Amino acid sequence: MNAKNPWPAHPHSLRDWQLARLRTYLRDTVLPFSAHYGRMFAQERIDPAALRSPEDLRRIPFTTKSDFLPGHEGADPVRDFVLTPDRKVLARRFSSIAKALLHGRAAVAEGFEREFRPLLLTSTTGRSSEPVPFLYTAHDIENLKLGGARLYEVCAAKRELRMLNMFPFAPHLAFWIAHYGGAEFGAFVLGTGGGKTMGTDGNLRLIKKIKPDVLIGMPTFVYHLLTQAVAEGFALPNLQKIVLGGEKAPSGMRRKLRALAAQLGAKQIDVIRTYGFTEAKLAWAECPFAEDAGSAGYHVHPDLALIEIVDPKTGEPRGEGEPGEIVCTPLAARGSVVLRYRTGDCIDGGLFHEPCPYCGRRVPRLVGEISRNSEVREMNLGKLKGTLVDFNHLEHVLDNAEHIGTWQLELRKQHDDPLDLDELILHVAKSDMTDDDHLRVTIDARFASETEIHPNRIEFHTEEEMRRLQGVGTLLKEQRVVDHRPKAQAAQEAGRL
Ligand SMILES: [Zn+2]
Repeated sequence: MNAKNPWPAHPHSLRDWQLARLRTYLRDTVLPFSAHYGRMFAQERIDPAALRSPEDLRRIPFTTKSDFLPGHEGADPVRDFVLTPDRKVLARRFSSIAKALLHGRAAVAEGFEREFRPLLLTSTTGRSSEPVPFLYTAHDIENLKLGGARLYEVCAAKRELRMLNMFPFAPHLAFWIAHYGGAEFGAFVLGTGGGKTMGTDGNLRLIKKIKPDVLIGMPTFVYHLLTQAVAEGFALPNLQKIVLGGEKAPSGMRRKLRALAAQLGAKQIDVIRTYGFTEAKLAWAECPFAEDAGSAGYHVHPDLALIEIVDPKTGEPRGEGEPGEIVCTPLAARGSVVLRYRTGDCIDGGLFHEPCPYCGRRVPRLVGEISRNSEVREMNLGKLKGTLVDFNHLEHVLDNAEHIGTWQLELRKQHDDPLDLDELILHVAKSDMTDDDHLRVTIDARFASETEIHPNRIEFHTEEEMRRLQGVGTLLKEQRVVDHRPKAQAAQEAGRL
């Protein structure tokens, strides 16, 4: 993001510019070609031209994950979100544009192909729900390159740095944005496919060979990899940056990664988080910061998406710098398009429009820790039925705790009986030689003071056992929370028997 940026510098002008962009986008691109939004805007009698202020956006109903579930007969809720050109509308544009263009009809037809024909797909990875596919056209791939290259810029990457992209080879956003962004940025970015494709050993062999300056991957996998590298006596003096995505990385996890990098001989290391989601077809990076200085937030791209923060309960918009749920509306997407998408992710800082105190970029910033609503789960613990347990918070507590290297929270039913109480078992691989009993007492006390619950058991494991429990090398994504409770249906059936 530099002087070539098309958006105005002043925060108020920026918001007006985004709204103007949204009005044109809705009028020319979304409403004529999206079955879902064509129907919705007609039903709700929304005139895109009347969307003049941030408050006006409230007229557009939110889109949520439940809108992608099969509901009424015949309709395909996923397809309904794909911009599908209407032949009549296109024919009108086709003749008017073709006349105006020297290159004639063939070039115009090619332009529509690039704009609307799906070429790529990434999908959600919901543990409990069916994956939802999101389609990209050539136009979207250009946006993915642009947004991806900006990720590298925000991370203060340089072209001469060698990078390893260790996100899994899969139809997931993380791998593809790192890949396309790297190619557009113009740096050497080698995709290893992560743990499942090459195993920890395969990734380590490549590290030895390539001597990367930058590692890109999921925090748990990068942690396992660096622990193994330290155990095998590797030296990585040129390692400068670790860029994380795909799961949360609170300060404790970043501190552990920095400590491992230092053990490998790295002199100065940035551990940078990114935040993205399938539905945005984009991700954003946090401005690099010294840990004690505090984060300036994730830098979002105002020409590609309009971000709102809303009250997670009422859906009412929150003001500048107020915490709430992140809502995203694309401004330039083709293929699958969702408007005012409620992410279910809450940020405890908020959205800021003032220039970044570190890099000076004039882009909106998402500041704070992000937690997922879906990670607040109801459990039946002891006499208290239906206790809400916030796993976001538990993950922070565990990642920030001293002496804990990696961990896994396991949910079970007592006696494996679906009708019995829930159990919470904490599996831990220690990062040092601390005494088990002492650590058990410390962790239990910490749990109780921060969350008012006690784990039923704390079990210690070697690093190798932990890799097996988390599925390193066998699963696409390492498991930090596993639910081994028999399903509700099984509970009902057991009740009937
Ligand atoms: Zn910045």
